[in-house]
Amino acid sequence: MNPYEKLLLQNKAWSEEMVEVDKEFFQRLAKQQKPKFLWIGCSDSRVPANEVTGTDPGEIFVHRNIANMVVHTDLNMLSVLQYAVEVLEVEHIIVCGHYGCGGVDAALTPNHLGLINKWLRNIKEVYSKHQSEIDAIEVHADKVDKLVEVNVIEQCQDLIKTSIVQKAWANRKAPEIHGWVYGLKDGLVKELVTIKPDFDNISPIFRYDMDQLKDS
Ligand SMILES: [Zn+2]
Repeated sequence: MNPYEKLLLQNKAWSEEMVEVDKEFFQRLAKQQKPKFLWIGCSDSRVPANEVTGTDPGEIFVHRNIANMVVHTDLNMLSVLQYAVEVLEVEHIIVCGHYGCGGVDAALTPNHLGLINKWLRNIKEVYSKHQSEIDAIEVHADKVDKLVEVNVIEQCQDLIKTSIVQKAWANRKAPEIHGWVYGLKDGLVKELVTIKPDFDNISPIFRYDMDQLKDS
């Protein structure tokens, strides 16, 4: 059997299993989605949002890219963010990195990797901001893991710098931002940071005028 055919067979079995447990499952989901969470995670195949959080389809709106980045010129991420925050009105945004991230590891090397250089550049900027803390660590794998953590926290900061999040904070005092890191070795999530919807949490230069945000 061709490997992709196995996926189709497994899909059939999964669909049947879901209906066995809950007859209306797909009919209900087909009508609407109202997830409470937006997940911004790494594309790594070992960190699927639903499986690691024990959630079902319909519960998490997902955006994934290499090293779970929030790049303010990334139209894809911004479109997902805007839809999740303004239309779905999610209550929580989770940025979830993972230890041993290949993207973060690659960013710590001088290797020229082609197009992806441009993406990794964003992680190199985070490293450069926290260089002394990371350089103080001797073992390379530990350096990677420290940069993974610091990077998640920086991406949470980048989220609250967006007018999309700030507008929602001004209008409905949500969503809350969470920075998590997932351990490939034990399957456990560690909480790194929680940012409540409070404008005092945004450094002043990145804060937009609240009245202008409300009207926009
Ligand atoms: Zn990764």
